[in-house]
Amino acid sequence: MVIVMQEGATDAQIQHVIDRLVASGFNVHRSTGESHTVLGAVGVHREFDHRDFELLEGVREVMRITQPFKLASRQFKPEGTIVDLGRGVKIGGPEVAIAAGPCSVESREQIFSVAESVAKAGAKILRGGAFKPRTSPYAFQGMGEPGLKLMREAADKFGLFTISEVMDASQIQMMLGYVDIFQVGARSMQNYYLLRALGEIRKPVLLKRGMSATMEELLMSAEYILAGGNYNVILCERGIRTFETYTRNTFDIAAIPVIKKLSHLPMLADPSHGTGRRDKVPPMARAAVAAGADGLLIEVHNDPDHALSDGAQSLEPATFTQLMAELRIIANTQPGCTSRAGTAPTLFAKRKAAVRWMKRSAVIWR
Ligand code: PEP
Ligand code: MN
Repeated sequence: MVIVMQEGATDAQIQHVIDRLVASGFNVHRSTGESHTVLGAVGVHREFDHRDFELLEGVREVMRITQPFKLASRQFKPEGTIVDLGRGVKIGGPEVAIAAGPCSVESREQIFSVAESVAKAGAKILRGGAFKPRTSPYAFQGMGEPGLKLMREAADKFGLFTISEVMDASQIQMMLGYVDIFQVGARSMQNYYLLRALGEIRKPVLLKRGMSATMEELLMSAEYILAGGNYNVILCERGIRTFETYTRNTFDIAAIPVIKKLSHLPMLADPSHGTGRRDKVPPMARAAVAAGADGLLIEVHNDPDHALSDGAQSLEPATFTQLMAELRIIANTQPGCTSRAGTAPTLFAKRKAAVRWMKRSAVIWR
């Protein structure tokens, strides 16, 4: 149930509603918007009459959320969530945020070299796995904490934020010192114990869609983190398993507009895992931004042919730089994060420029 308070409702009125909800057995989550406060009431509770709440002072509207995901539902926060990393970098606003870097941190030379190139190209977040979920137990498993340390140093040198995968709740405390965003991998999307533990912290969490998960299951997993009180959740489409074998996964671009309508959470797209092939990453990255993704997670390696994991889908730095230029046209952007907002005349001018560019370049239609 969502309770929308009137504009200008007093703190005392809001607190009274919260107290009544708690007394009725609900957990209450408060979202303070620009004009009014919304209270999300969730939990297992006995029968109640929602009209009792409509009558309380300061209440504008009471709505039942029919979807199984409550706090992740757009009804709870119609204006959308913006995850603010600091220094002006936000995920979910008018900007398109780009996270780029190697699949795995492999060495000091590698992570510093990639960090420098992606920062120069305009990325704001450095990605790199230190704990790798590999199909084979004999494959490179990641450098662990020393890898995170190198990534943090490289990110700090080039003014980047960091994102890295957490595979187990026992790693969270240690990782807090190195990462700005915790990544939950596709294989861990339904590790509910891990999700609950991430609900206890307040750092942003990027939750990837499981390779056989429905959109609803993804949102239910997000709900675990939100229910713990961590509202800094970012979703990520990274492709799902289908009968198709030409690409590593089937990149479900339709999930972007569908989920953005169902949920207020920002959504990134990962065309690297979505396709598994370097040459298919730029077109799918452009398509994801055109479909409304709030940002991208892209694998970039200084020497992809010798990468210890996912080399085949990693872009060379020069290709990444070119892709960033193409994204700026689609997203109507500034370097790094690109603004999608604009007045109608500027958008029109941008569109004309984009059409001119597309006519000149066969790249986008490849
Ligand atoms: C990764 O980002 O390197 C990764 C392992 O992704 P996923 O969990 O989507 O397979
Ligand atoms: Mn990878």
